[in-house]
Amino acid sequence: MTNTQYPHLFTPLDLGFTSLKNRVLMGSMHTGLEDGSNHDRLSAYFAERARGEVGLIVTGGYAPNRAGWVYPFAGKLSTRREARKHSQMTAAVHAEGGKIAMQILHAGRYAYHPFAVAPSRVRSPISPFTPRELSASGVESQIRDFVRCAQLAREAGYDGIEIMGSEGYFINEFLVTHTNHRKDEWGGDYSNRMRLPVEIVERSREAVGKDFIIIYRLSMIDLIPDGSSWEETVALAKALEAAGVTMINTGIGWHEARIPTIATSVPRRAFTWVTKKMKQEVTVPLVTTNRINLPSVAEQVLADGCSDMVSMARPLLADAEFVRKAREGRADEINVCIACNQACLDHTFSKKTSSCLVNPRACHETELNYVAAPKRRKFAVVGSGPAGLSAALVLAERGHDVDMFDAAAEIGGQLNMAKVIPGKEEFHEMIRYYTRQVELLGINLHLNTRVDADDLAANDYDDVIIATGVTPRDPKIDGQDHPKVLSYIDVLRNNAAVGERVAIIGAGGIGFDVAEFLLHDGHSPTLDLDQWLAEWGVADPADARGGLSHSRKQPQPSRELTLLQRKAGKHGANLGKTTGWIHRAILKMNNVKMIGGVNYERIGDEGLLISYGDKREDPTWLDVDNIVMCAGQIPLRDLQEPLQAAGISTHVIGGADVATELDAKRAINQASRLAATL
Ligand code: FAD
Ligand code: NAP
Ligand code: SF4
Repeated sequence: MTNTQYPHLFTPLDLGFTSLKNRVLMGSMHTGLEDGSNHDRLSAYFAERARGEVGLIVTGGYAPNRAGWVYPFAGKLSTRREARKHSQMTAAVHAEGGKIAMQILHAGRYAYHPFAVAPSRVRSPISPFTPRELSASGVESQIRDFVRCAQLAREAGYDGIEIMGSEGYFINEFLVTHTNHRKDEWGGDYSNRMRLPVEIVERSREAVGKDFIIIYRLSMIDLIPDGSSWEETVALAKALEAAGVTMINTGIGWHEARIPTIATSVPRRAFTWVTKKMKQEVTVPLVTTNRINLPSVAEQVLADGCSDMVSMARPLLADAEFVRKAREGRADEINVCIACNQACLDHTFSKKTSSCLVNPRACHETELNYVAAPKRRKFAVVGSGPAGLSAALVLAERGHDVDMFDAAAEIGGQLNMAKVIPGKEEFHEMIRYYTRQVELLGINLHLNTRVDADDLAANDYDDVIIATGVTPRDPKIDGQDHPKVLSYIDVLRNNAAVGERVAIIGAGGIGFDVAEFLLHDGHSPTLDLDQWLAEWGVADPADARGGLSHSRKQPQPSRELTLLQRKAGKHGANLGKTTGWIHRAILKMNNVKMIGGVNYERIGDEGLLISYGDKREDPTWLDVDNIVMCAGQIPLRDLQEPLQAAGISTHVIGGADVATELDAKRAINQASRLAATL
């Protein structure tokens, strides 16, 4: 029966020898569990997503040999013994009625180890190891390893493989002159440079037979200097089709590209137009990707004829039941990926197991479960920021009675400030999700209600969860009561009028966010795809190699900003590993002055007086209209002492517990884990 809300998304995809039940492909993600010792955890993780009805799962990348490891002892499939272990995962997925393909990923010069190999000895900017240049027979042996890996994947019970040909890894490196300087039959003109992927596909197809899915992930826009031309990319796509691929998936940008491709400030479906261009060139089904996080967006992408399938990776971390909820008309219950990268990609790059900011169970399915409570109890949760909300949801899901109080008129706590930052619009989705869950789980919500210990003591609660968050730190700067001075709360929450020249004290996450808020004055480039592409210099790859434009549009900042910190060194050093550079680049594009190593001497009619270093040298007035304080936060937990004195059992979570380095990831994780045990 046709799904009336998402007709394209829920039309099965007939691949000839098999059929996929819908158009959602779970894109490959490294979870940090691929090293061969975590098959139980991976099985549970994949099985949950198969139960959630995703059409086809693609695993994280497995190397076809040691040289192809992303880092030492990363996932690999090159022996029968390894294949037998993989069959636990494929069986778990099949038992839930799902299908799963294994990604074969050879890291090439991106490998973080000394055995790295590549077409030429060209070190990448993201690995300290210079790769060894392969001999011609060395190239042959890499191809044989790919083919063997494909065969082993079939033996392990996979429904197919995805050959990773994008993002700047090994195969991609053969395609462009930037990384391929060879003079033999694997280098030189494009027909030679593209031989490697074509041979890999052709020989793999021969080895695995006709009835096995082979997806090729093709870099459709490299976003690097000297990247592929569109003509070359089309030529490769056609050759891959002839060589026997079942589907072509889209890759956007090499990892070393200096253009954001999946961060939250990237507009939704920002690159689906690239796949749409390719639709005119080949007949095999195409998969499109990047910043598609809602069923409505996915449906529109398909309805617009951009692709035959939509790849969503992180959205399936955020909610394993994404597809089922959409099919059942419960899209408003989906826990939406906000594209923050904080618990997934940032973890990967810090060698930690991935998870998800909005769903700490992701990749932890075997140890974090919200099972029914043995005894129904009555809880008060004070504060409806992410900590309080997460605790309340888990407690209610487990069968407890929950009263939740917030002094504010709306739930969300500081998320309500995050959501107004240009490029952080996805935080609206988080609040929407929580609002619906509070309703569905029957949590008794009391807004506009500041509670004190007496109110709580009068109500016979078994336990009180204190999730009252934080309050801004007092920076104790001479003259800080001057009318020029505002706090980030005045600016982001209370719509304070702000002048044209502004100094921001504090260059942490909030200082950066306030800067972006003031620069864009309500207009978010994230909501304007053409402006966003022009400012980042993304062009049609048919007009410019690699899709890199020769000129970028200069943004028009609405204010002159100076962002200050006392420490020397890089501004925003503690921002996300995979996103900090984007925030710094945006501020740079908008001519924000970043000054470090300062002392704040005084605030007065003249502006802000700063000096430098221990000797307090060169005192200078910054002639500004306003000074915005973003100097960090301290916990707000004044309820704890009187409640404890009254003999009431309390738990303190989120910012109320520890404000240093607090973020929503920690608040949600701590709250969910506590609530799972009460
Ligand atoms: P809060 O969110 O501060 O919530 C506390 C709640 O308790 C408030 O709603 C308050 O009204 C209520 N309350 C306090 N006292 C009482 C009382 N006595 N009675 C009733 N109610 C009370 N984090 C990230 O991870 N990623 C980001 O990108 C990010 N961006 C941010 C951008 C901005 C501009 C800001 C300000 C924060 C951002 N954060 C981000 C930080 C994140 O929002 C906080 O870490 C998180 O909100 C802390 O959660 P919490 O529940 O502990 O406290
Ligand atoms: P923060 O990251 O700790 O930054 C506080 C800033 O204030 C620092 O630049 C610090 O630098 C300065 N500072 C500290 N004490 C000061 C003092 N006494 N006088 C003057 N300046 C002082 O805190 P935040 O920016 O308030 O952010 C709060 C939390 O929200 C953070 O933990 C952050 O991770 C989270 N957040 C995250 C994001 C994100 O994108 N992930 C975005 C926003 C917020 P100096 O000490 O060098 O001056
Ligand atoms: Fe999405 Fe952030 Fe979760 Fe990663 S951590 S899956 S980006 S919400």
